[in-house]
Amino acid sequence: MNKKIWLSSPHMGGKEKEFVNEAFETNWIAPLGPNVNGFESDITTYLNQEVYVSALSSGTAAIHLGLIMLGVGYGDEVICQSMTFSASANPIMYCGATPVFVDSERDTWNMSPKLLEEAINDRIAKNKKPKAIVAVHLYGMPYLVDEINEVALKYDIPVLEDSAEALGSTYNGVKCGTFGDISILSFNGNKIITTSGGGALISHDKKHKEKAIFLSTQARDVAPHYQHSEVGYNYRMSNVVAGIGRGQMLVLDERVNSRRNNYERYINELSDIDNISFLDELPNAFSNRWLSCILTDSFETRELIRTTLEKLDIETRPLWKPMHLQPIFSKYPSYVNGVSEDLFNRGLCLPSGSNLSQEDLTRVIDAIKNCFG
Ligand SMILES: *Cc1c(COP(=O)(O)O)cnc(C)c1O
Repeated sequence: MNKKIWLSSPHMGGKEKEFVNEAFETNWIAPLGPNVNGFESDITTYLNQEVYVSALSSGTAAIHLGLIMLGVGYGDEVICQSMTFSASANPIMYCGATPVFVDSERDTWNMSPKLLEEAINDRIAKNKKPKAIVAVHLYGMPYLVDEINEVALKYDIPVLEDSAEALGSTYNGVKCGTFGDISILSFNGNKIITTSGGGALISHDKKHKEKAIFLSTQARDVAPHYQHSEVGYNYRMSNVVAGIGRGQMLVLDERVNSRRNNYERYINELSDIDNISFLDELPNAFSNRWLSCILTDSFETRELIRTTLEKLDIETRPLWKPMHLQPIFSKYPSYVNGVSEDLFNRGLCLPSGSNLSQEDLTRVIDAIKNCFG
C-alpha cells in the first residue's frame, strides 16, 4: 500500500518546540507574552516595510476586525473577489453587511480591475457605494495590485488585502501583505507556514494595530475594573502557538523555495501534455506557489485526473468554487464574466507541500501521465 500524498500538510522546521517549551517554562500560557511580541516582530522584519503587525487567532478573525476597522457595519456593502475561499467573504456577513462579488481576470485568476470599476459604478448608481474591497492573492499569485489600487483610489474605497495564501510572494519586489489599507495573513495548518491555527492583521498605521489588540482582547477600557464602551472579541493569538510561529519564520524562505521547486517539476514534466496548461507569473510578480495548480482542457479531463489520483491515494482539489455560485451567497449581487466559473470547472490543485519528496512528486507526475496513455 502506498502512503497517502496530501495536498498541503504542516511542515515543522525543528526549532518550534524550543519556543513552545520556553512559553511553558516561563508560564506565559496566555494570549500575550514574549512569543507573541517576538512573532509580530519577526513578521514585520520579514515584510521589510514600515508596517504594524498584530497576531490573532485566525486569518478569518483578522478579516473580521479589518472590516470593522474600515468602518463596515450593518447594511453596508462590501466588494469581494468571487474566486476565493469562503473565509474571505464570511466576515462581511458577521458585520451584517452585504457581499458584492466580482469575477476574475485570466492573467492572475484574481479580481478583474475592469469589472471592479463596473461594479463600483453600478453600486454608486444604485446609491450603495461600497465600504471596502476584499482582494485576494489566490494560491500565492499576486493580484494586479497597481490596477486594483488605482480603481480603489479613484473612488476612495479602502482595500482589505487577503494575503492568507501569499506570505512570501512579491509584487514589484515588495512583499504581499503590505498593499492593503489593511492586510491579513493566515497560519492555518495547510498554509505555507503554520501555527496550527492563527492569523495576523497588518497595517501601515500604528493606530490600526492598537485598535486590533484592543478589539481582540475584549475591548477593555482603561480602568481598574472591567469596563467596556465597545463590543469586544476574543481573537488574540496565544503565546503558545506564537512559539510555533517563531520557529516557522526561521524556515519560511526554504518553504517558499520548496513550493516553487514542486511547481517547476510539474511544469517541466507535464507541459508536454496538450490537455494541461499552467499559470505563468507576470514579469513584476513572484508567487510563493502555495499550491501548484493546473488548468485542463475540459471538466471531463479535470475529473479524470482527480478521480484517477484519488484511487492512488493522492489528494488533489478542484480550484476554489466561486462565491457567487455558492448556495449561501448566490442571492447576493455579483458582477460576472465567466472566468472564475471556467477556472473552477477545469482547474485542479496538485499536491504542493514543502515536505513532499522527489519520489512523491514522481508518483503524482506518473499518475497524471498515465491518464493520457
Ligand atoms: C485560509 C484562508 C483564509 C482564512 O484563514 P484562517 O486562518 O484559516 O481563518 C482567508 N482567506 C483565504 C484566501 C484563505 O486561503
